[in-house]
Amino acid sequence: MQILHPFAGSIQQYCEAISDPDRYRPDHCPQCEAQQPPTAHGFYCRTVTDVEFDGSIRVRRYLCHDCKRTVSLLPDFALPYLRFSILVISLFLVARLLHGGTLRAAAKAAAQPGMPYQRGQFWVRRFQSQAAALCAALTALTAPMAAADFVTRALHMCQAVGWTPAHRFLFSGLRTHLLGWPRFLVPDGRRTALRPAFPSA
Ligand SMILES: [Zn+2]
Repeated sequence: MQILHPFAGSIQQYCEAISDPDRYRPDHCPQCEAQQPPTAHGFYCRTVTDVEFDGSIRVRRYLCHDCKRTVSLLPDFALPYLRFSILVISLFLVARLLHGGTLRAAAKAAAQPGMPYQRGQFWVRRFQSQAAALCAALTALTAPMAAADFVTRALHMCQAVGWTPAHRFLFSGLRTHLLGWPRFLVPDGRRTALRPAFPSA
């Protein structure tokens, strides 16, 4: 199970901070009623591309000795199953869908000037298919705004709330992915079947 690690600093600061296993250890297992805090259980690595970072980060894992399940502490600048950070994707979506920029201009706004245009189209499609659900969910955090369509409204609401706080609320509270879960995952984010790998877009 993934839970979010709210982290306000830079990715470099995150990489240093997680070396200490006790600093962010959950005080209880989120998957069972165990009263013992889970113990540190190594790391897994994942790639993250941010505006000023492109590389691999470690994600801290903990093990619950009661239910024998692990919980990983995903930093909240990264979206589950996507290589590109929330910042990069949000800069792209705002430039493309809110300001009407070309795919190339939006990629540049997201500090990814050389990226293949298909990647941006993939983000746009995913956001479009999530927009109505995002509008409904985010009314818990901000007033719904008048807009011509769900996509525009969802973008304005994410901008008003902040993309990272929006992601934190959606994921932690509702187990909802800002860009929608890939097909092989059910809404609570647990793997249900082995299917072709989700593209690392
Ligand atoms: Zn447990």
